[in-house]
Amino acid sequence: MSHGPLAGRVHLHWRRTKIVATLGPATSTPAAIRGLLEAGVDVMRLNMSHGDHAGHRALFHHIRAAAKNMGRHVAILMDLCGPKIRTGRFPGGAIELNPGQEVVVDARAEVGREGLIPSQYRLIHKDVRPGQRVLLDDGNLELKVLRVKDHRVHCRVVYGGPLKDHKGINLPDSKVSAPAIPKKDMEDARLAVELGADYVAMSFVRSGQNVLALKRLLARHGASIPIISKIETPEGLENIAGILDASDGIMVARGDLGIELPAESVPLVQQQLIRFARMRHKPVIVATQMLESMITHARPTRAEVGDVANAAFASADAVMLSAESASGKYPLQAVQTMDRIVREVEGYQWKKGAFVGEEAAGEELVTRDAFAHAASTLAQELKLQGIVIPTRGGTTARIISSRRPTAPLVAIAHEEAVCRRLALCWGIVPMFIPKRYDYDSVEVCTAVARKANLTRTGHNVLLVSGFHDNPSLNEPTLKLVRV
Ligand code: PEP
Repeated sequence: MSHGPLAGRVHLHWRRTKIVATLGPATSTPAAIRGLLEAGVDVMRLNMSHGDHAGHRALFHHIRAAAKNMGRHVAILMDLCGPKIRTGRFPGGAIELNPGQEVVVDARAEVGREGLIPSQYRLIHKDVRPGQRVLLDDGNLELKVLRVKDHRVHCRVVYGGPLKDHKGINLPDSKVSAPAIPKKDMEDARLAVELGADYVAMSFVRSGQNVLALKRLLARHGASIPIISKIETPEGLENIAGILDASDGIMVARGDLGIELPAESVPLVQQQLIRFARMRHKPVIVATQMLESMITHARPTRAEVGDVANAAFASADAVMLSAESASGKYPLQAVQTMDRIVREVEGYQWKKGAFVGEEAAGEELVTRDAFAHAASTLAQELKLQGIVIPTRGGTTARIISSRRPTAPLVAIAHEEAVCRRLALCWGIVPMFIPKRYDYDSVEVCTAVARKANLTRTGHNVLLVSGFHDNPSLNEPTLKLVRV
């Protein structure tokens, strides 16, 4: 029996949507890391909110060794904690908040008690006003501010429950004035430079200025590591244009975003952020709770399958696993599940001839976007077996990828670091070729097309080159190469 979309299912050799997996206690051994890579992980995330430098250093070296052994280009993303606000601790480890009760959030207290919640963030009383919300424990508990007196914020409990030590505080109605780069992030950024991380993720980004400040910090340590800005507050959303300009990619960090915004806004915001980032040729990762139930169960809920599929339908560059791969019972199965869901969607999209919906009518294309559009159309119309893209720093490859062409994309780079970074970007198969002084791009293109099994003798691939950020060096070229 054949039904609609399932008739003649297509299985593509190359998965286009990349998978990011967070490492943690469940996946800290070389064998576990190798298993994740074999299952198809493209980017490994080290979450600096947990663990210590010795542990992260060991993981980093395990990943690099496993990737080298397997001949794979795998990016390592080090995710900084950012100015996450937390409560202090309580004598018995928790207190109970009852709806209607008046409580005090105290910016100076170290230890709490019934009715008193210590805030590790010492300026909380400066950032909130009467009537605003204070959310605790991932938004499970809600307080409304009644008045602020000195360093004490008096609140009424709206939604109550147990409040344990060191739970997160979110201030969705306030502009938080905590420094964008806390001391811990400075130390973690230094570690990222020392190890040579491929990406650094910045949490709670509020403006492009925040990103530039981290860039300056990395530069002071002698590195220019690409920055992925985590969009997780209303302020970050308001300033998204400036943030995207300053960043090398973004993450839709739905955990905190879904606390700070009404949860029902998150799917729409996700769609908009994916499109916005794609139009600016920046990779976008959809993160958090994608297969949450797989932390404890071997099979996902149907809703989670729909969530991963939805991100692939919207053509996000990557989908991410957090606790599922870091501390869950089924890390490998979570990656395999994600891989299968994404492949199912992509086979369908490929058969339909498009990985994205209609582009906005009348969209004004600057030269290199017009060339990328033309490359994508040519590959589709001529049923080309692949697009081969020699790229110095990755720009040309990212621009072509942003049109989401149906033909596979092989990017050739002369630097391993560029190959690793491109592992995050939609559809790109990075390939390292050592630089030769007598480099002949057609010859290399042919060799690469064969090596990647893109095509058979007598078939054509498209060679795309010459895109540059500097307009005076921008010489986009499309060339049909007969293999
Ligand atoms: C998130 O909030 O969705 C997120 C990815 O951030 P964290 O590092 O806090 O999990």
